[in-house]
Amino acid sequence: MPLLSLDQLTLRYTAGGTPAVDGLNLALEPGETLALLGPSGCGKTTTLRLVAGFERPDTGSLQLEGRVLVGPGTFVPPDQRRMGMVFQDYALFPHLSVLDNVTFGLQALPRREQVARARAMLDMFALGGLEARAPHALSGGQQQRVALARALAPGPRVLLLDEPFSSLDAALRASTRMEVRRVLKSLDTTVLLVTHDQDEAMAFADRMAVMRGGRLEQLGTPESLYLTPRTAFVASFLGGTNPVPGSASGTEARTVLGNLPLVSPAQGPVLLSLRPEALRLMAETGAQAGTLRAEVLTREFQGHGVVFTVRCGGMELTVRGTSEVPFRPGDSARLEVVGKAVVLEDAPPDAAGEPGSSGT
Ligand code: ATP
Repeated sequence: MPLLSLDQLTLRYTAGGTPAVDGLNLALEPGETLALLGPSGCGKTTTLRLVAGFERPDTGSLQLEGRVLVGPGTFVPPDQRRMGMVFQDYALFPHLSVLDNVTFGLQALPRREQVARARAMLDMFALGGLEARAPHALSGGQQQRVALARALAPGPRVLLLDEPFSSLDAALRASTRMEVRRVLKSLDTTVLLVTHDQDEAMAFADRMAVMRGGRLEQLGTPESLYLTPRTAFVASFLGGTNPVPGSASGTEARTVLGNLPLVSPAQGPVLLSLRPEALRLMAETGAQAGTLRAEVLTREFQGHGVVFTVRCGGMELTVRGTSEVPFRPGDSARLEVVGKAVVLEDAPPDAAGEPGSSGT
């Protein structure tokens, strides 16, 4: 049985307006980390606020361990939901020490137990020795870990995280999230995380729910979403893609880039996702039948690699290469397809966009 389930949750902020969250179904298994991911305004934070109890849905229900938190005639207030929360700004109490920030949610316990539990939690997050400090005397990463320790100390059933790493710089963000993931896994915590950062979601979550316009676009493990996106929206949002129309016949599709191998078989007109790393730019070696010529339009150096936009077959394509790939804007190169294409569920463009009609 799932630990937390959202069933057909819908919320409109204004009567008759577009729903911020629209018929959302989700289920979190005990101990899993689920990331809500999507572009600005797709309803991630609203979903988290509905789960926390800061918003009431117009329709739908919410259950935690089989207990109805929200449903017809039922609304359990936030403080009775046994959920911990950490937001982007940590919201530590500035006038309390680190220790007292963490014991704050443990007031029902005898003081000695409060302190013991808070110390144990601070140790887990490598904050031992900082108990007496004030929050302003901590680094951003330390403050963030204190906020997590405070949220976890009362033993919440679910931890809700809203962009918790976004105010840390890139290097600190990566190391902090790795450390935090380790602690949360060791405690077997069930986590619902909101982020617009695809790298963060892929690194941190067991499963990801990509949202679009208040609805669930695709749910799955980071690997399954990356390797088999259902729509161009998901493919573009997670890593970028080249949508290529084609005509499929089994495990191949005819396109302006030639016959492309497919990840799964299909028949008839299709829209394909061809990842930037499925394309490679090579030095031209004279005209040969079937050679694709590409004109380099832009080159963006990214340290670990380079991203090019090229024109080929009447299309603009994104190509990812290593930083040694020498081409510059204005160069021409040979384009090779080195990976398989994924058949998307999106309708392919009409006949005008079909292969053979784009002038190559
Ligand atoms: P971001 O990544 O920018 O935080 P998000 O995916 O978390 O975005 P939400 O904050 O959930 O998106 O917003 C979803 C939609 O609801 C947006 O169109 C937003 O403008 C609208 N919205 C959010 N809060 C309110 C509010 N209090 N009143 C009216 N509309 C709101």
